[in-house]
Amino acid sequence: MLKEYYPYEYVKSVFAVDYKKLWALGYRGLIFDVDNTLVHHGDDSNEKIDRFFEKLHKMGFKTCLLSDNEKSRVERFNKNIQTLYVCDADKPSPAGYQKAVELMGVEKSRAVVLGDQIITDIRGANNADLPSILVHFIRMPDEKHIGKRRYIEYFVMWTWKHRKKYRYRLGDIRRRK
Ligand SMILES: [Mg+2]
Repeated sequence: MLKEYYPYEYVKSVFAVDYKKLWALGYRGLIFDVDNTLVHHGDDSNEKIDRFFEKLHKMGFKTCLLSDNEKSRVERFNKNIQTLYVCDADKPSPAGYQKAVELMGVEKSRAVVLGDQIITDIRGANNADLPSILVHFIRMPDEKHIGKRRYIEYFVMWTWKHRKKYRYRLGDIRRRK
């Protein structure tokens, strides 16, 4: 069933979410995928991302990186952010998500997952029974080729857009410009 791949919400980027609204809804823990969600695949963190996490932490959110990457890659990315992380997560297995929730020390019902891939990030969130926000994957302007998986994602999200029951399940959490 396609619903296993449906996120609760779909936004342009992690910056398109109104985190004050998420906070007001009772959410306290944010689980982030790294590659193509926060930075382009393989990149280190940058000032914008470092500041983003600083802001979230100041608001009171707990954050945790959840990545299939190895420890050295995640630690390198996390150098300035210094947040919690789970590496070698083996998404969509729910174990890593569970571990992320435990590390953050928040109730499971107060955690949200943000990621760019429905087959791993979102499916895993659904397997772990966590709400999720799909963010459009970060793509470089000169990047012409996108993998086959992305076409599957476009198809799944096309069906999502036509199934009201599964859309906007977090309510109005989009940031207004
Ligand atoms: Mg990713």
